[in-house]
Amino acid sequence: MSFRRRLLLLFAFSVGVSVAVVTSIVSTMTRRAFDQATDTRTAALVQQFRREFTRRGEEVSRKAETAASSPQATRMAVAAAQPIPDYSGFLDAARELAQTERLDFLEFADNRGTIISSAQWPAKFGYKEPMALWPAPTSPFLKEEETPHGAELGLFAVHALAAGDSKLSIIGGVRLDRTFLLDLDLPNDMRVMLYEKTEASDHGFSSRHLITPSDSQEDAGQLAALIESVELTGREASVITTSKAGEEMVNAFPLSGENNQLLGIFLVGSSRQIYNQLRREIRLAALIAATAGLVLAVLLSSWAAARVTRPLEQLAEAAREIAMGNWKAFVSADSRDEVGELADALNRMAGDLLEQRERLLQSERLAAWREAARRLAHELKNPLFPLQLTVENLVRARSQGPEQFEEIFAESATTLLSEINRLKNTVAHFGEFSKVPKPQLEKVRVDELLQHVASVHRAQLQQASVECRVETSGVGTMFADPDLLHRALSNLMLNAIEAMPTGGTICLKARQNSGWVELEVSDTGVGLSPSEAQNLFTPYYTSKQHGTGLGLAIVHSIITDHGGSIRVESQPARGTTFMIELPANHDAVRALPGNHA
Ligand code: ADP
Ligand code: MG
Repeated sequence: MSFRRRLLLLFAFSVGVSVAVVTSIVSTMTRRAFDQATDTRTAALVQQFRREFTRRGEEVSRKAETAASSPQATRMAVAAAQPIPDYSGFLDAARELAQTERLDFLEFADNRGTIISSAQWPAKFGYKEPMALWPAPTSPFLKEEETPHGAELGLFAVHALAAGDSKLSIIGGVRLDRTFLLDLDLPNDMRVMLYEKTEASDHGFSSRHLITPSDSQEDAGQLAALIESVELTGREASVITTSKAGEEMVNAFPLSGENNQLLGIFLVGSSRQIYNQLRREIRLAALIAATAGLVLAVLLSSWAAARVTRPLEQLAEAAREIAMGNWKAFVSADSRDEVGELADALNRMAGDLLEQRERLLQSERLAAWREAARRLAHELKNPLFPLQLTVENLVRARSQGPEQFEEIFAESATTLLSEINRLKNTVAHFGEFSKVPKPQLEKVRVDELLQHVASVHRAQLQQASVECRVETSGVGTMFADPDLLHRALSNLMLNAIEAMPTGGTICLKARQNSGWVELEVSDTGVGLSPSEAQNLFTPYYTSKQHGTGLGLAIVHSIITDHGGSIRVESQPARGTTFMIELPANHDAVRALPGNHA
C-alpha cells in the first residue's frame, strides 16, 4: 500500500472515530438531559394531578356538607331517628340535591347502612351501603361505584350527620372522567390519561376503561403491557410508544383507594418528538462533520504525502542514478527534517563513494600496469636468454679457433636474427597497443557494422568450419568510431574462432535498449574458468603459445573510450559470450573526457 493511501486511511479512521465518539457522547448527554427534563415535568404534572385531586376532593367534601345541611337532609335525619323509619318520601331527594350541588354521585344512608336515597341509582333504595357502617373517612378517596350503566370510578367524600342516637351518612362524589383530565394545565407536548380499575376491568386490559383527553384510542394497545405491569407490581412504570404523532414516553402511576387497593392508573405521556428531532439534527451534524473531515483527510493526506513522498521519490531517483554510475547525482536537501537528513546522508555517501572509486581506480590502474610490466618483462626476457647464450657460444668458438667459429656462426646468426625478430614483434605489438587512438564519432548503422565484421572474416570462418549468424532486428544507428568498433569486434571474432578448434557457431547480436545499444559476441567454444575470466582484459594475459594477450586489452580500451562497458559470461566446454553496452546518443559519447565529435 502506498504511503499516501496509508496516510489517507489513518486520517479517515481518526476522523471517523472522533466523530463517532463525539456524536455518541453528545447523543447520550442529550438523551440524559431530555430524560431528566421529562422526569421533572412528569413529576410536576403528577404533583398537579394530586393537587387537583385534593382540590376536587375538598370540593366534593364541601358539597357533601352543603347537602348534609339541606332541609331534606335534616328531614331524613329526623326520619332515621324514628324507631321504625319511613323513607318513602325521599326517593328523589338525592337526585335533586345532586343536581343542585353538581355532584355525580350522592347517597344518603342510615346507621344500619340502609340506603335512604340514591342519585346515581334510585332503585337501590332500601339496599345496604357498607360504607355507611364504617367510621367515615376524613379525607376524600377513590372508589368504584355501581351504577345502572356499570361500575364507575369516582372521587368521594363522606359526611355524617347526627340524628338523635342514630347517624345519617351523606356520600357524595364526582366521576373521574375526561373533564377532570381537561382541567389539568398541560404543556403542549404532554398529555395525561386515566385508566379505570373497576371490577369489570379486572380481567385484563380493556381500552374502554382508558380515559383520554381526546377520543382517539389508537395507541391504547401499546399501553396494555405498561398498565398490566403496574397492576401486577403496584409501582410506577414507564414505556416508550410509537404512533403516527411520533414517539412518546408514557409514565404510569398507580392510584390507590382507601384500603390501598388499586383503583386506577394515572398516565402521563411526554412526546419525544423534540428529542428525536434533536437526535436527527445531531446525526446530520455528525454526518456533515464526518464528510468535511473526510474531505479534509483527503486534502491533508495528499499534502502530507506530497511533502514526504516527493523528496523521497527524488531520493530514490538519485539512488538509482548513483547505482547506474552517475556518481555526481545530487539531491537538493532544503528541508530540515528527517528527509533532509536522509538527502544529506545520500549526498555525503555519493561523495564518499566517488572518492573511494577514484582511489580504487588509481590502485587498480597501478596494479594493471604492474601486471602488464611484469608480463612485458617476461616477453622481453624470453628472447634475451637465447640471445645471450648464442653470443656467449660465438665468443667461446672464436677463442677456440676460426674453424670452430665458422662452424657455428651461420647457425648462431639465424638464431640471433629470429630472436631479434621476436623482440621486434613484441615491441611492435606494444606500440600498437599504446597507440589505440581516441574515437572519431560518426553516425554508424549497427546492422551494417556487424555484417561487415562477419564478411571480413568469411575466409577464416570457412577454414575453421565455423558458422556465423548475425541478428540485428530493430536496431538503428548509433554514434561511434566505426573503425575502432570494427577492430574491437574483429578481435572478439578471432578469439571466438580460436576457441573453436573443431568448429562451431558464432553469433553476433545487437539490441536497442532505450539510450543504449547492446552488442553480443557468443561462441560455442572451449569456454573459460572463473579465474581465467577474471584476468581476461589484463594486457599480456594469454593462454596461447603465440598469443600476444593484448587483443582483449585493446577491446576493453576501445569500449571504455566510447563510454561503454564490456563483460564476459562463460561456461567451460559450453561457450563464451562477450556483452558490450554502448551509449547510442551522440551527446552521451561526446561528453566523455577527451572525446570530440
Ligand atoms: P590472445 O588472443 O592473444 O591470447 P586476447 O587478449 O585476445 O589475447 O585473449 C586473452 C585470452 O583470453 C586468450 O588467450 C584466451 O585464453 C582467452 N579468450 C579470449 N576469448 C576467448 C573465447 N572466445 N573463448 C575462450 N577463451 C577466450
Ligand atoms: Mg586474441
